[in-house]
Order: sequence, then C-alpha cells, then structure tokens
Amino acid sequence: MTAIELKLGDITKFNGDAIVNAANESLMGGGGVDGAIHYAAGPELNNECARLNGCRTGEAKITAAYRLPAKYIIHTVGPVWHAQPSDAKKLKSCYVNSLRLAIQNDCKTVAFPSISTGAYGYPVSAAARIAITTIQNYPSNLIATIICYDRKTFQAYQAILNR
Ligand code: ADP
Repeated sequence: MTAIELKLGDITKFNGDAIVNAANESLMGGGGVDGAIHYAAGPELNNECARLNGCRTGEAKITAAYRLPAKYIIHTVGPVWHAQPSDAKKLKSCYVNSLRLAIQNDCKTVAFPSISTGAYGYPVSAAARIAITTIQNYPSNLIATIICYDRKTFQAYQAILNR
C-alpha cells in the first residue's frame, strides 16, 4: 500500500522529495505541466535532459530539480489516448516506474500530476482510476500527492478516492 493525498494546485510548488513530470519522449520540454516544470526549474534542467537520450512511453527517468523546491524530477511519458487496451497498460507503467525510481532514490514524498489527461487526451475518470489503484496497490512507505491543476480534474480524482 502507498498512501495518497489529493490536492488542487501547481506541482512546481511541491516542497517534497520528488515531482513527476508528464513529459514527452524527447524529454526536451513541451506544453502543459512539462512546460511549467521546465520554466520553473530553469535552463539547467534542459542540459541534463539532453544527455538522457529521451524516454519511451510508460518508462521514467530521474533528474535533479534545480530551481524547484523538490529534490528530484521524475520524467515519465504517458500514452497518447488511442482508445486501446494498451493505453491503460502504459499509463499504469508510468505510475509503477515513477514510484520505483522514487524509492530507489530514497524519496519519502512524491507528487504526481494527472498524467496523459491534458494534451494526450486520456479520459480523466479512466486515468484517475488507473492512477489511484496503481499507486494504492504499490507496496511502499511513500506518501504520494496527486496535484490537480483544475477543479474538474480534482473532482474526478476525488470521486474515485471516495469510492
Ligand atoms: P499530457 O501530455 O500527459 O496529457 P499535460 O501537461 O497536457 O500532459 O496535462 C496533464 C495534466 O497536467 C492536465 O490535467 C493539466 O491541467 C495539468 N497541469 C498543467 N500544468 C500543471 C501544473 N503546473 N501543476 C499540476 N498540473 C498541471
């Protein structure tokens, strides 16, 4: 079991061990939460990301967090929604691989955004169910905070958490 907290806010402000970035396969920055994280972390983040050779969908890589209050950024690449069973499998691996990296790096607290539900088009309720069940079923002493940026997303996650 991993403990989950749900918050409404900006993940770049998270003052814990690690934040997860919903990146793209290039790891060179993009829009949405990825853009906000790269902007807030500063240009040093791009220099480190440029040495990582990208990241495949469902996998995760870790960097320093530079100007952010967190210690690390775990970059994971969510699936683009194609309405196929493989989407759910890949989204689940994003959470599993990110949690594994957090533990390997001695993190106690980690924050997740709502991976894939912005530009990548994953339906929010389905993504929320995968996020919450995957995190809750993962064996760890971590505290995972899911940070939603808008009220609608927050409510979708809250509905699943309160089942
Ligand atoms: P993806 O490409 O994986 O869909 P997006 O960044 O487009 O990623 O969207 C994922 C979620 O992150 C969306 O719910 C979006 O509103 C949210 N988001 C955007 N900026 C932030 C932020 N600063 N903190 C937390 N979540 C954010």
